[in-house]
Amino acid sequence: MSQTMRIDARHSSRRTLSAASLFLALGAQAAIAGATPEIKSFTLGADTVTVLHDAAGAMPNNGKVFGLNASPAAVAKVLAAAGAPTDVIHLDVDALLVRMPGHLVLFDTGNGPARHGAMLDSLKLAGVAPDQITDIFITHSHMDHIGGLIDAKGKTVFPKAIIHMSAKEWAFMQATKRAAVVTSAVAKQVRPFEPGGEVIPGVTTIALYGHTPGHTGYEISSQGKTLTDIGDIAHSSIVSLAKPGWTIAFDSDKAEGIKTRERELAALAASHAFMFAPHFPFPGVGQIEKAGDGYKFKPVLP
Ligand SMILES: [Zn+2]
Repeated sequence: MSQTMRIDARHSSRRTLSAASLFLALGAQAAIAGATPEIKSFTLGADTVTVLHDAAGAMPNNGKVFGLNASPAAVAKVLAAAGAPTDVIHLDVDALLVRMPGHLVLFDTGNGPARHGAMLDSLKLAGVAPDQITDIFITHSHMDHIGGLIDAKGKTVFPKAIIHMSAKEWAFMQATKRAAVVTSAVAKQVRPFEPGGEVIPGVTTIALYGHTPGHTGYEISSQGKTLTDIGDIAHSSIVSLAKPGWTIAFDSDKAEGIKTRERELAALAASHAFMFAPHFPFPGVGQIEKAGDGYKFKPVLP
């Protein structure tokens, strides 16, 4: 059974969720989606990667989120060509757990219990307790990525972890009111970095600015195998790839967001590197392929 077929089957069950008006919490335009905990594990060299499912939902195709410089009709055409529903854009929320020699690492943390994210239950399914996590890498400080750093009472969930994020993103997070409860709970654990180097063995940081001021991607590598967490440079596995030049409401600097998206997608399509995107259909792992004047997502595990 191919990955594609499995993911299509999941999509039709997700349609029921969106019919119940479960909308994603992405940045400011928040509405919440619940999800059943779910995990998917695979090997990357000496590492074991586990995708942790957090939430699922859909954004309306109303010209206010996707394709701000296009039209809902143009967005619908792209969705239809991919065989997807044309009235909504499906998005998941997932995080990564990576077991690497000497480190037990998370990449982002999902929505958190206050926003009904399932990431902690998925972590439990993976057999890991929060106080075992040694390092957390944050792509950016929107609540669907940092909400899981705190519990429903606003306390830190991962007391022993070092929280890594770019210096620019940490400055942005500290200046963001919406993130204040998380900022104060975890401030002592945050260790900011300048992107472009290796922070722990096997984790290289990549500046992917635009979605937020300090948005960062991560290349996870072990024994010659790599997986790049691209964060939110692309939200929809269909629309964001087919039309990387379309603006999305969630990008804080829309022009820089487009530039970063176009540059990184071109590099991934050229290298055939494996990538993970938190909002692509679970497990959100695959390759980027050139398609027409844009790209398409090929769901496949390393
Ligand atoms: Zn996001």
